[in-house]
Amino acid sequence: MCHRIGNDFNTWIWKDPWIPNKPGFIPQARSGAIDNVHLVADLIDQDTRQWDRGKLSNLFKPATMNRILNIHLCHQLLGDQVFWCLTSSGEFSVKSAYKTIRSSNTQTHPLLQAQDWKQLWKIEANAKLKNLLWKISWNILPTCTALNNRFPLPSLDCYLCNNAPKSLEHLFLQCDWVTQIWLMAPWPINLSNLSNLSILDWVKIILYPKTNLGLDDDSAKEFQLYSLLVCDQIWFFRNKARVEGSKSNPIELARQIRHVFEEHKQAWSKLPRRSPKIIIWQPPPNSWVKLNFDAAIREEKISVAVVGRDDLGKLLMAWAEQLDLGNSLLGEAKAAWWAIKCAAMKGYRNIILEGDALNVINLLKNANYVPHWSIKSIYDDILYLSKSFVNVSFSFVNRENNVPAHLLAQWAAFISWSGPIPISILPLSVMKALDRDGFRAKPCCISPVCVEE
Ligand SMILES: [Zn+2]
Repeated sequence: MCHRIGNDFNTWIWKDPWIPNKPGFIPQARSGAIDNVHLVADLIDQDTRQWDRGKLSNLFKPATMNRILNIHLCHQLLGDQVFWCLTSSGEFSVKSAYKTIRSSNTQTHPLLQAQDWKQLWKIEANAKLKNLLWKISWNILPTCTALNNRFPLPSLDCYLCNNAPKSLEHLFLQCDWVTQIWLMAPWPINLSNLSNLSILDWVKIILYPKTNLGLDDDSAKEFQLYSLLVCDQIWFFRNKARVEGSKSNPIELARQIRHVFEEHKQAWSKLPRRSPKIIIWQPPPNSWVKLNFDAAIREEKISVAVVGRDDLGKLLMAWAEQLDLGNSLLGEAKAAWWAIKCAAMKGYRNIILEGDALNVINLLKNANYVPHWSIKSIYDDILYLSKSFVNVSFSFVNRENNVPAHLLAQWAAFISWSGPIPISILPLSVMKALDRDGFRAKPCCISPVCVEE
């Protein structure tokens, strides 16, 4: 449970849980700090509704201070609330509590990490093939060596070559059958030269063929598919030989694998690929302002940028701001909040807020969506601010059509710019992107001469 900071002045600094993402949620004072402040409200400058950085840096270590600075302070009057931070909505659910208790007991792999598993499940191959690779990675295939650890088996010799004990390494890397199959592969590999290769080394080669074998995108995908099929067929034949006692020969098996590989490859190539949609930036209607926003996430901060244009595509304002560190969701939400704040300061009446963060835009467009608890107060603030306009609408664009805001956020991060940006100092890259989006003629005008205006 964690407190969301509003204006109630009833959250205690040292007793209540109130800092999300901090273990225990309760901060500790840095050693030697004088803690004569007791309420979280004492850490906030109530006039500006900003965290009092001086007090924070006196009281807390930098990591805790950064977590506090990440807490968005609402400008409207809202009470402190309690929320459950194990669900994205902040509402308690038994499922989330159960999952957390379970996850603290789950085993972690000694060598493969979260990103490796992600890579594994991303491979373009049947789930069955990926499952096999997963089992190989965890060493949970019922090989004779594994079974022999539980109950003694009469023989441990490989069912295929009869030459060596059937460990995973032997079966998938060292067996004569496998070495011959790989010599006949579309990417011939001489496995007998790689006798020190462990099965996990091999799994890593399959996961990252681009870096490990220097393959290009397409070949890397094909290599992954082929490797998985080799594993699958070897395992299938090994089981067949075990049960039926019959076997063909490695060359025959290599041909068969090649055949299956071509079939799978064809099946995958028939899947529709996403073709990039060509949409160009659309100006807002007459008397409206469109504000494109974006965030650049850096290790130590978030830089947000807003670009406002009218119905002719003319630049009305550019603004950038440096905010305290956070993740991309927080960054994009803050960028949206900053955009609407800029529009309010400028006194625009009809606005379109446009960004390339689908999760944030969807949230703002749909009243039914529940915001993630970490951006709940930013979301509330945006809705609160939106009441001060005649019309507000939210629009999603893909990245390619949000280039000026994107480049501006990058540039502002680089030079740590905060505040309005005069057109005269806008970087060339942003000017070019604005040009590319185009100044447009009034819709009623069809004469090519007017386009030049
Ligand atoms: Zn063998």
